[in-house]
Amino acid sequence: MNPSHIEHIGIAVKNLDESIKYYEDVLGLECYNIEDVKDQKVKTAFFKVGDTKIELLESTDPEGPIGKFIEKKGEGIHHIAFAVDNIEEKLKHAEEKGVRLVDSSPRKGAEGLDIAFLHPKSTFGVLTELCENKNK
Ligand code: ZN
Repeated sequence: MNPSHIEHIGIAVKNLDESIKYYEDVLGLECYNIEDVKDQKVKTAFFKVGDTKIELLESTDPEGPIGKFIEKKGEGIHHIAFAVDNIEEKLKHAEEKGVRLVDSSPRKGAEGLDIAFLHPKSTFGVLTELCENKNK
């Protein structure tokens, strides 16, 4: 896969505004973008930490993936996203290695990135996202 860096860490929270306060007031990071990702039924807030972002995820629908995650596991780290090139090729590679895919082809995620998830059953419990910035 040769990811260049961890693109972001996705963290499920119950309340975006309250959690933003922690990241800003305690950690001293700056929320530079808030975005509705309708497709995934979440509202997201972004912070930069070096090359990596923190992506806070608040569910906008209890039946959405984050709503269900919080109900089952509570708040906390939801996924780790690796920045890759040629995401289609990398997905094929993962599949060839026997990894179960959540997305067999990339879709549009927050910030206009092409994203695809690998299933946590195949990745030792960590929901893993691949993302490619094709706009750079
Ligand atoms: Zn993500």
